[in-house]
Amino acid sequence: MIFILSWVIRDPGDVFIQVLYPFFALVLALVFPLVWFRTIPIRKLEIFILSIITTIILGRLVWHFHFAGAIEEQLIMLAAGHYWAIGILIIVGFVMFDHNKGIAAGLTIVLLSGIISATGVWGDMRSGLASGETLIYLVRIHLFLVLLLGLTGATTILRDKLKDALIRADVLQQLVNTDMLTGLANRRAAEKFLSEQASAVARYDRKVSVIMADVDYFKQVNDRFGHAAGDAVLEGISKILLNTVRDSDLVARWGGEEFLIVAQETTALNGKDLARRCAEAIAGNPIAGINVTMSFGVSELTAQDSVDTVLSRADTLLYRAKNSGRNRTFSDADPVTALNDFPELGLNAGQI
Ligand code: GH3
Ligand code: MG
Ligand code: MG
Repeated sequence: MIFILSWVIRDPGDVFIQVLYPFFALVLALVFPLVWFRTIPIRKLEIFILSIITTIILGRLVWHFHFAGAIEEQLIMLAAGHYWAIGILIIVGFVMFDHNKGIAAGLTIVLLSGIISATGVWGDMRSGLASGETLIYLVRIHLFLVLLLGLTGATTILRDKLKDALIRADVLQQLVNTDMLTGLANRRAAEKFLSEQASAVARYDRKVSVIMADVDYFKQVNDRFGHAAGDAVLEGISKILLNTVRDSDLVARWGGEEFLIVAQETTALNGKDLARRCAEAIAGNPIAGINVTMSFGVSELTAQDSVDTVLSRADTLLYRAKNSGRNRTFSDADPVTALNDFPELGLNAGQI
Protein backbone atom coordinates (compact mmCIF):
# COMPACT_ATOMS: atom_id res chain seq x y z
CA MET A 1 0.00 0.00 0.00
CA ILE A 2 2.83 2.37 0.94
CA PHE A 3 4.51 1.71 -2.41
CA ILE A 4 1.30 2.39 -4.32
CA LEU A 5 0.55 5.55 -2.29
CA SER A 6 4.11 6.83 -2.81
CA TRP A 7 3.77 6.12 -6.48
CA VAL A 8 0.45 7.93 -6.84
CA ILE A 9 0.92 10.86 -4.45
CA ARG A 10 4.58 11.81 -4.61
CA ASP A 11 6.23 14.01 -7.17
CA PRO A 12 6.92 12.25 -10.43
CA GLY A 13 10.41 12.36 -11.83
CA ASP A 14 11.96 10.00 -9.29
CA VAL A 15 12.99 6.90 -11.20
CA PHE A 16 13.08 4.81 -8.05
CA ILE A 17 9.45 5.55 -7.23
CA GLN A 18 8.31 5.45 -10.83
CA VAL A 19 9.89 2.14 -11.72
CA LEU A 20 11.00 0.16 -8.67
CA TYR A 21 8.04 0.86 -6.36
CA PRO A 22 5.47 -0.39 -8.89
CA PHE A 23 7.73 -3.37 -9.61
CA PHE A 24 8.00 -4.38 -5.95
CA ALA A 25 4.30 -3.64 -5.38
CA LEU A 26 3.58 -6.06 -8.25
CA VAL A 27 5.85 -8.75 -6.77
CA LEU A 28 4.15 -8.42 -3.37
CA ALA A 29 0.72 -8.35 -5.03
CA LEU A 30 1.59 -11.64 -6.76
CA VAL A 31 2.71 -13.18 -3.48
CA PHE A 32 -0.37 -11.95 -1.58
CA PRO A 33 -2.90 -14.43 -3.10
CA LEU A 34 -0.49 -17.30 -2.39
CA VAL A 35 -0.53 -16.36 1.28
CA TRP A 36 -4.24 -15.53 1.35
CA PHE A 37 -5.31 -18.83 -0.20
CA ARG A 38 -2.63 -20.72 1.76
CA THR A 39 -1.08 -22.14 -1.42
CA ILE A 40 2.28 -21.59 0.23
CA PRO A 41 2.50 -21.49 4.02
CA ILE A 42 3.37 -17.99 5.26
CA ARG A 43 6.37 -19.43 7.15
CA LYS A 44 8.05 -20.28 3.86
CA LEU A 45 7.46 -16.81 2.41
CA GLU A 46 8.49 -14.82 5.47
CA ILE A 47 12.18 -14.65 4.57
CA PHE A 48 11.33 -13.87 0.95
CA ILE A 49 9.03 -10.99 1.92
CA LEU A 50 11.47 -9.66 4.54
CA SER A 51 14.30 -9.77 1.97
CA ILE A 52 12.24 -7.89 -0.62
CA ILE A 53 11.24 -5.16 1.84
CA THR A 54 14.83 -4.87 3.15
CA THR A 55 16.12 -4.60 -0.41
CA ILE A 56 13.64 -1.82 -1.21
CA ILE A 57 14.45 0.17 1.93
CA LEU A 58 18.21 -0.19 1.61
CA GLY A 59 17.90 0.43 -2.13
CA ARG A 60 16.05 3.62 -1.40
CA LEU A 61 18.83 4.70 0.98
CA VAL A 62 21.40 4.05 -1.76
CA TRP A 63 19.27 6.14 -4.06
CA HIS A 64 19.04 9.05 -1.59
CA PHE A 65 22.70 9.10 -0.66
CA HIS A 66 24.42 8.12 -3.90
CA PHE A 67 22.21 8.97 -6.88
CA ALA A 68 19.52 11.52 -6.08
CA GLY A 69 22.00 14.33 -5.49
CA ALA A 70 19.88 15.89 -2.75
CA ILE A 71 21.24 18.90 -0.90
CA GLU A 72 22.44 18.45 2.64
CA GLU A 73 19.38 19.75 4.57
CA GLN A 74 17.08 17.49 2.65
CA LEU A 75 19.23 14.42 2.88
CA ILE A 76 18.44 13.22 6.40
CA MET A 77 14.84 14.41 6.18
CA LEU A 78 14.30 12.42 2.99
CA ALA A 79 15.89 9.34 4.49
CA ALA A 80 14.29 9.68 7.96
CA GLY A 81 11.25 7.51 7.20
CA HIS A 82 13.54 4.77 6.00
CA TYR A 83 15.38 4.63 9.32
CA TRP A 84 12.04 4.07 11.02
CA ALA A 85 11.41 1.30 8.54
CA ILE A 86 14.80 -0.22 9.45
CA GLY A 87 13.76 -0.11 13.12
CA ILE A 88 10.56 -1.98 12.25
CA LEU A 89 12.53 -4.52 10.18
CA ILE A 90 14.77 -5.21 13.21
CA ILE A 91 11.70 -6.00 15.32
CA VAL A 92 10.10 -8.08 12.53
CA GLY A 93 13.32 -10.13 12.33
CA PHE A 94 13.00 -11.03 16.03
CA VAL A 95 9.31 -11.85 15.68
CA MET A 96 10.05 -14.18 12.75
CA PHE A 97 13.22 -15.87 13.99
CA ASP A 98 14.73 -16.96 17.28
CA HIS A 99 17.03 -14.51 19.08
CA ASN A 100 20.25 -15.62 17.32
CA LYS A 101 18.90 -15.21 13.79
CA GLY A 102 17.06 -12.04 14.86
CA ILE A 103 20.32 -10.48 16.06
CA ALA A 104 22.15 -11.58 12.90
CA ALA A 105 19.43 -10.17 10.61
CA GLY A 106 19.16 -6.91 12.60
CA LEU A 107 22.94 -6.37 12.71
CA THR A 108 23.24 -6.96 8.95
CA ILE A 109 20.50 -4.44 8.19
CA VAL A 110 21.90 -1.76 10.57
CA LEU A 111 25.42 -2.30 9.25
CA LEU A 112 24.35 -2.00 5.60
CA SER A 113 22.27 1.08 6.38
CA GLY A 114 25.25 2.63 8.23
CA ILE A 115 27.67 1.93 5.36
CA ILE A 116 25.27 3.24 2.70
CA SER A 117 24.46 6.44 4.64
CA ALA A 118 27.98 7.15 5.91
CA THR A 119 29.70 6.68 2.54
CA GLY A 120 27.09 8.92 0.92
CA VAL A 121 27.50 11.73 3.45
CA TRP A 122 31.27 11.28 3.46
CA GLY A 123 31.33 11.82 -0.31
CA ASP A 124 29.12 14.91 0.06
CA MET A 125 31.35 16.27 2.82
CA ARG A 126 34.41 15.94 0.61
CA SER A 127 32.73 17.85 -2.18
CA GLY A 128 31.55 20.46 0.34
CA LEU A 129 27.85 19.58 0.07
CA ALA A 130 27.45 18.21 3.58
CA SER A 131 28.77 19.27 7.00
CA GLY A 132 30.15 17.23 9.93
CA GLU A 133 26.84 17.85 11.69
CA THR A 134 25.05 15.63 9.17
CA LEU A 135 27.52 12.85 9.91
CA ILE A 136 26.95 13.21 13.69
CA TYR A 137 23.20 13.09 13.06
CA LEU A 138 23.63 9.89 11.13
CA VAL A 139 25.76 8.36 13.89
CA ARG A 140 23.03 9.21 16.44
CA ILE A 141 20.36 7.59 14.29
CA HIS A 142 22.42 4.42 14.00
CA LEU A 143 23.24 4.37 17.70
CA PHE A 144 19.50 4.48 18.35
CA LEU A 145 19.03 1.57 15.93
CA VAL A 146 21.76 -0.45 17.70
CA LEU A 147 20.09 0.29 21.05
CA LEU A 148 16.76 -0.89 19.63
CA LEU A 149 18.50 -4.03 18.37
CA GLY A 150 20.01 -4.67 21.82
CA LEU A 151 16.76 -4.13 23.70
CA THR A 152 14.68 -6.22 21.30
CA GLY A 153 17.39 -8.91 21.32
CA ALA A 154 17.40 -9.06 25.13
CA THR A 155 13.60 -9.22 25.24
CA THR A 156 13.62 -12.00 22.64
CA ILE A 157 16.22 -14.01 24.58
CA LEU A 158 13.94 -13.78 27.62
CA ARG A 159 10.95 -14.73 25.47
CA ASP A 160 12.73 -17.79 24.04
CA LYS A 161 13.99 -18.90 27.45
CA LEU A 162 10.53 -18.51 28.98
CA LYS A 163 9.01 -20.49 26.11
CA ASP A 164 11.56 -23.30 26.66
CA ALA A 165 10.89 -23.31 30.39
CA LEU A 166 7.13 -23.49 29.83
CA ILE A 167 7.52 -26.37 27.37
CA ARG A 168 9.79 -28.21 29.83
CA ALA A 169 7.35 -27.64 32.70
CA ASP A 170 4.54 -28.96 30.51
CA VAL A 171 6.52 -32.10 29.60
CA LEU A 172 7.45 -32.68 33.27
CA GLN A 173 3.83 -32.24 34.32
CA GLN A 174 2.84 -34.85 31.72
CA LEU A 175 5.55 -37.26 32.86
CA VAL A 176 4.64 -36.91 36.52
CA ASN A 177 0.99 -37.76 35.84
CA THR A 178 1.35 -40.40 33.13
CA ASP A 179 1.96 -44.14 33.28
CA MET A 180 4.91 -44.82 30.97
CA LEU A 181 3.79 -48.22 29.67
CA THR A 182 0.17 -47.49 28.81
CA GLY A 183 0.11 -43.70 28.50
CA LEU A 184 -2.86 -43.66 30.89
CA ALA A 185 -3.12 -41.40 33.92
CA ASN A 186 -1.07 -42.87 36.75
CA ARG A 187 -2.11 -43.45 40.35
CA ARG A 188 -1.05 -39.97 41.44
CA ALA A 189 -3.19 -38.28 38.73
CA ALA A 190 -6.08 -40.62 39.52
CA GLU A 191 -5.99 -39.75 43.23
CA LYS A 192 -6.08 -36.05 42.40
CA PHE A 193 -9.00 -36.51 39.99
CA LEU A 194 -10.87 -38.66 42.48
CA SER A 195 -10.38 -36.12 45.25
CA GLU A 196 -11.82 -33.38 42.98
CA GLN A 197 -14.77 -35.63 42.19
CA ALA A 198 -15.34 -36.33 45.90
CA SER A 199 -15.61 -32.57 46.49
CA ALA A 200 -18.00 -32.18 43.54
CA VAL A 201 -20.22 -34.97 44.89
CA ALA A 202 -20.29 -33.43 48.37
CA ARG A 203 -20.95 -29.91 47.12
CA TYR A 204 -23.11 -30.31 44.01
CA ASP A 205 -24.68 -33.74 44.59
CA ARG A 206 -23.04 -35.17 41.48
CA LYS A 207 -23.26 -38.87 40.65
CA VAL A 208 -19.80 -40.41 40.28
CA SER A 209 -18.88 -44.07 40.17
CA VAL A 210 -15.52 -45.60 40.94
CA ILE A 211 -14.59 -48.85 39.23
CA MET A 212 -11.62 -50.92 40.35
CA ALA A 213 -10.58 -53.51 37.77
CA ASP A 214 -7.96 -56.24 37.86
CA VAL A 215 -6.78 -58.68 35.19
CA ASP A 216 -7.56 -62.28 36.07
CA TYR A 217 -4.64 -64.72 36.42
CA PHE A 218 -2.27 -62.20 34.90
CA LYS A 219 0.73 -63.87 36.49
CA GLN A 220 0.01 -66.89 34.25
CA VAL A 221 0.04 -64.63 31.17
CA ASN A 222 3.54 -63.51 32.07
CA ASP A 223 4.62 -67.03 32.93
CA ARG A 224 3.31 -68.57 29.71
CA PHE A 225 3.91 -65.84 27.16
CA GLY A 226 6.66 -63.73 28.69
CA HIS A 227 6.79 -60.29 30.26
CA ALA A 228 6.80 -58.44 26.92
CA ALA A 229 3.57 -60.17 25.90
CA GLY A 230 2.15 -59.25 29.32
CA ASP A 231 3.05 -55.62 28.66
CA ALA A 232 1.33 -55.75 25.26
CA VAL A 233 -1.81 -57.12 26.94
CA LEU A 234 -1.78 -54.25 29.45
CA GLU A 235 -1.46 -51.75 26.57
CA GLY A 236 -4.31 -53.45 24.69
CA ILE A 237 -6.52 -53.38 27.79
CA SER A 238 -5.82 -49.67 28.24
CA LYS A 239 -7.00 -48.92 24.70
CA ILE A 240 -10.16 -50.97 25.14
CA LEU A 241 -11.02 -49.28 28.44
CA LEU A 242 -10.40 -45.83 26.94
CA ASN A 243 -12.61 -46.66 23.96
CA THR A 244 -15.40 -47.90 26.21
CA VAL A 245 -15.66 -44.98 28.63
CA ARG A 246 -16.83 -41.43 27.90
CA ASP A 247 -14.37 -38.62 27.26
CA SER A 248 -15.26 -37.09 30.62
CA ASP A 249 -14.33 -40.30 32.48
CA LEU A 250 -10.86 -41.08 33.75
CA VAL A 251 -9.07 -44.36 33.10
CA ALA A 252 -5.91 -44.79 35.15
CA ARG A 253 -3.37 -47.50 35.74
CA TRP A 254 -3.67 -47.99 39.47
CA GLY A 255 -0.75 -50.40 39.74
CA GLY A 256 0.64 -53.55 38.05
CA GLU A 257 -2.38 -55.07 36.28
CA GLU A 258 -4.96 -53.05 38.15
CA PHE A 259 -6.95 -50.21 36.59
CA LEU A 260 -9.20 -47.53 38.00
CA ILE A 261 -12.11 -45.91 36.17
CA VAL A 262 -13.79 -42.79 37.55
CA ALA A 263 -17.05 -42.22 35.67
CA GLN A 264 -18.80 -38.87 35.96
CA GLU A 265 -22.61 -38.46 35.96
CA THR A 266 -22.80 -42.20 36.64
CA THR A 267 -24.79 -43.93 39.38
CA ALA A 268 -23.65 -47.27 40.75
CA LEU A 269 -26.22 -48.94 38.49
CA ASN A 270 -24.87 -47.18 35.39
CA GLY A 271 -21.36 -47.83 36.66
CA LYS A 272 -22.06 -51.53 36.83
CA ASP A 273 -23.36 -51.39 33.28
CA LEU A 274 -20.18 -49.62 32.17
CA ALA A 275 -18.00 -52.19 33.95
CA ARG A 276 -19.92 -55.01 32.24
CA ARG A 277 -19.36 -53.42 28.84
CA CYS A 278 -15.65 -53.16 29.62
CA ALA A 279 -15.59 -56.80 30.74
CA GLU A 280 -17.33 -57.93 27.54
CA ALA A 281 -15.02 -55.87 25.33
CA ILE A 282 -11.97 -57.40 27.01
CA ALA A 283 -13.18 -60.99 27.12
CA GLY A 284 -14.71 -60.76 23.62
CA ASN A 285 -11.49 -60.89 21.60
CA PRO A 286 -7.90 -61.96 22.24
CA ILE A 287 -5.68 -59.03 23.22
CA ALA A 288 -2.21 -59.18 21.66
CA GLY A 289 -3.19 -62.73 20.72
CA ILE A 290 -3.98 -63.73 24.32
CA ASN A 291 -7.37 -64.41 25.88
CA VAL A 292 -7.80 -62.54 29.15
CA THR A 293 -10.68 -61.58 31.42
CA MET A 294 -11.02 -58.95 34.13
CA SER A 295 -12.92 -58.62 37.38
CA PHE A 296 -14.58 -55.38 38.45
CA GLY A 297 -15.73 -53.72 41.67
CA VAL A 298 -18.06 -50.73 41.29
CA SER A 299 -18.91 -48.26 44.02
CA GLU A 300 -20.71 -44.93 43.89
CA LEU A 301 -19.15 -41.93 45.63
CA THR A 302 -21.38 -40.57 48.39
CA ALA A 303 -21.31 -37.12 49.97
CA GLN A 304 -19.78 -38.66 53.12
CA ASP A 305 -17.02 -40.44 51.23
CA SER A 306 -13.33 -39.66 51.24
CA VAL A 307 -11.08 -40.96 48.48
CA ASP A 308 -9.97 -43.78 50.77
CA THR A 309 -13.43 -44.96 51.80
CA VAL A 310 -14.81 -45.23 48.26
CA LEU A 311 -11.62 -46.94 47.05
CA SER A 312 -11.74 -49.42 49.86
CA ARG A 313 -15.40 -50.28 49.01
CA ALA A 314 -14.57 -50.72 45.31
CA ASP A 315 -11.58 -52.85 46.30
CA THR A 316 -13.68 -55.08 48.53
CA LEU A 317 -16.25 -55.53 45.74
CA LEU A 318 -13.43 -56.45 43.36
CA TYR A 319 -12.12 -58.93 45.90
CA ARG A 320 -15.57 -60.51 46.08
CA ALA A 321 -15.69 -60.69 42.27
CA LYS A 322 -12.37 -62.53 42.33
CA ASN A 323 -13.53 -64.89 45.05
CA SER A 324 -16.76 -65.68 43.22
CA GLY A 325 -14.88 -67.06 40.22
CA ARG A 326 -13.42 -63.98 38.37
CA ASN A 327 -14.59 -62.38 35.06
CA ARG A 328 -17.38 -60.82 37.14
CA THR A 329 -18.64 -57.41 38.18
CA PHE A 330 -19.80 -56.58 41.68
CA SER A 331 -21.35 -53.25 42.59
CA ASP A 332 -22.95 -51.62 45.59
CA ALA A 333 -26.07 -51.29 43.41
CA ASP A 334 -26.49 -55.06 43.65
CA PRO A 335 -29.64 -56.24 45.45
CA VAL A 336 -29.47 -55.84 49.23
CA THR A 337 -29.76 -59.59 49.68
CA ALA A 338 -26.58 -59.96 47.70
CA LEU A 339 -24.89 -57.26 49.76
CA ASN A 340 -25.93 -59.02 52.94
CA ASP A 341 -23.76 -61.84 51.75
CA PHE A 342 -20.78 -59.53 52.09
CA PRO A 343 -20.77 -58.08 55.57
CA GLU A 344 -17.24 -56.75 55.06
CA LEU A 345 -18.69 -54.03 52.78
CA GLY A 346 -20.29 -52.43 55.83
CA LEU A 347 -23.31 -51.36 53.75
CA ASN A 348 -26.98 -51.68 54.56
CA ALA A 349 -30.25 -50.95 52.77
CA GLY A 350 -30.39 -47.41 54.14
CA GLN A 351 -27.21 -46.45 52.36
CA ILE A 352 -28.26 -47.39 48.87
P1 GH3 B 1 -5.74 -62.62 40.07
O1 GH3 B 1 -6.71 -63.22 39.12
O2 GH3 B 1 -6.01 -63.05 41.49
O3 GH3 B 1 -5.65 -61.14 39.97
O4 GH3 B 1 -4.32 -63.24 39.72
P2 GH3 B 1 -3.08 -62.53 39.07
O5 GH3 B 1 -2.14 -63.54 38.62
O6 GH3 B 1 -3.56 -61.56 38.05
O7 GH3 B 1 -2.55 -61.68 40.29
P3 GH3 B 1 -1.14 -61.59 40.94
O8 GH3 B 1 -1.22 -60.38 41.85
O9 GH3 B 1 -0.74 -62.87 41.52
O10 GH3 B 1 -0.15 -61.26 39.75
C1 GH3 B 1 -0.10 -60.04 39.13
C2 GH3 B 1 1.03 -60.12 38.14
O11 GH3 B 1 1.09 -58.95 37.35
C3 GH3 B 1 2.36 -60.26 38.79
C4 GH3 B 1 3.24 -59.25 38.12
O12 GH3 B 1 4.43 -59.82 37.70
C5 GH3 B 1 2.44 -58.82 36.93
N1 GH3 B 1 2.70 -57.45 36.55
C6 GH3 B 1 2.60 -56.33 37.31
N2 GH3 B 1 2.97 -55.24 36.60
C7 GH3 B 1 3.32 -55.68 35.36
C8 GH3 B 1 3.80 -55.04 34.18
O13 GH3 B 1 3.97 -53.82 34.12
N3 GH3 B 1 4.04 -55.80 33.10
C9 GH3 B 1 3.85 -57.14 33.14
N4 GH3 B 1 4.11 -57.83 32.04
N5 GH3 B 1 3.44 -57.77 34.24
C10 GH3 B 1 3.17 -57.06 35.32
MG1 MG C 1 -4.77 -59.92 38.68
MG1 MG D 1 -3.61 -57.36 41.07
